[in-house]
Amino acid sequence: MPTIDYDALYIGGRWQTPVGESTITVISPITEQPAGSVPRGTEGDVDAAVAAARAAFDDPGGWSTWTPQRRLSVLEAFAVELERRGPETARRVTLQNGMPTTVAHAIEAGFPAILMRYYGGLMVDGDQEEIRPGMGGGRTRVTREPIGVVAAIVPWNVPQGITALKLAPALAAGCSVVLKPAEETVLDAFLLAESAAAAGLPPGVLNVVPGGRELGAYLVGHPGVDKVSFTGSTAAGRAIGRTCGELLRPVTLELGGKSAAIVLDDADLDMRMESFFAATMMNNGQICWLGTRVLAPRSRYGRVVDAVTDMARSRVVGDPFDPAVHVGPLVSARQRERVEGYIAVGRQDGARLTTGGGRPAGVDRGWYVEPTVFADVDNSARIAREEIFGPVLSVIPYDTVADAIAIANDSDYGLGGSVWTEDPDRGAEVARGIRSGTVGINAYSNDPHSPFGGVKASGLGRELGPEGLHSYQFPKSVYLDN
Ligand code: NAD
Repeated sequence: MPTIDYDALYIGGRWQTPVGESTITVISPITEQPAGSVPRGTEGDVDAAVAAARAAFDDPGGWSTWTPQRRLSVLEAFAVELERRGPETARRVTLQNGMPTTVAHAIEAGFPAILMRYYGGLMVDGDQEEIRPGMGGGRTRVTREPIGVVAAIVPWNVPQGITALKLAPALAAGCSVVLKPAEETVLDAFLLAESAAAAGLPPGVLNVVPGGRELGAYLVGHPGVDKVSFTGSTAAGRAIGRTCGELLRPVTLELGGKSAAIVLDDADLDMRMESFFAATMMNNGQICWLGTRVLAPRSRYGRVVDAVTDMARSRVVGDPFDPAVHVGPLVSARQRERVEGYIAVGRQDGARLTTGGGRPAGVDRGWYVEPTVFADVDNSARIAREEIFGPVLSVIPYDTVADAIAIANDSDYGLGGSVWTEDPDRGAEVARGIRSGTVGINAYSNDPHSPFGGVKASGLGRELGPEGLHSYQFPKSVYLDN
């Protein structure tokens, strides 16, 4: 398979020769061989990208001043180009991070175009201007203004979907963007830049500068940036939050999670195995909202442990390009070490391993870990408190539904969660008690129309829905001369 190699960076609407001479080589987790390379961005490239984004935003007749309808027509063209490259996008993501191809086609190939159209349309249909009556007969015109130049920093786990969560609302609002993809997944970001160029996005409205955390930190603190939008680890989020706090710079942080999947005593998990798998182990366990703490009622504890164990055991582990495969490799050797380290901690702490715990037999290449289930886990154990980011579940017993809710809420995080029951009303009632930004009943699936984000150490702010658009705008009041 030929490697995918680029020798230029997409800055200011052109493919430009990079300032530096070093490259980022992407190693595929499937083959452990190079999949491609791109120039490594430098601080000079970030300066050029921010200057281009600044010029695009500040241009008196430019993108930020266009009518929403005019921006929508470009976003529609962008959506078409993204769809055209959808299969190749899915292929690159699988190649770089091991995402099962079915998931890559479902999320990475299609979701970005859906979001471009959704947010472009929301700007056209939604009220961007309102006249409010004031005191003593006064009137105020309240408008939503684009916030400016956005630094978008994204991780490797769902690189295109997460990029689109930021890019679509930012562009629709009239902002310009400097995107810094993770080093592990740069090849899909460059394909996105190709789509932007083909769609006729005005120069400087989108710029892509690949690099590691130092470059990300430089971009976050850059004087030309007006807003930072970050998805990734809680540790990096805290560092970014500190910088933005000092600068009083608006920031959205989508961070880690350790969500609870509460199984009620009437749940039929055998019937719902595929949905339960998707809600707890999708993408090889590398998604922030997964319900990796499974809370099981003591009255049916053995049966729930068996059902979860059977689910994990029945998964096909292997080459993620095979559509029959459920679980592919982890993104990197480092990530596998980390996950295996947590499995060792679980064993040492006395949790009962019911399946998995090792590497799949007969596989000599690729960073695979078997789907793993620990039973009899105490919620205070490290494997129940820390984000593992791999296919590892902890089953925790509970006595009453009130206990289950208390255990779900006894976490540093609050991003996702799910309730499993044959009585949807009861499920909705339990969901009400969970301190978390999102909860699913008998499934977990984000929806473009509804806000997504976390509380506590899971982050600040919301993406998706109108809330996701508002985070790229600021309200402005003009007190009219009556
Ligand atoms: P990370 O947070 O270190 O990196 C995510 C992105 O932020 C990358 O583009 C990285 O270059 C950049 N970055 C890192 N530190 C930065 C800083 N101080 N300033 C600016 N940019 C910075 O995550 P990772 O190394 O890719 O993964 C480590 C852990 O993070 C995972 O094991 C998992 O627990 C968590 N994670 C969470 C999510 C999520 O969606 N919540 C996604 C990926 C990883």
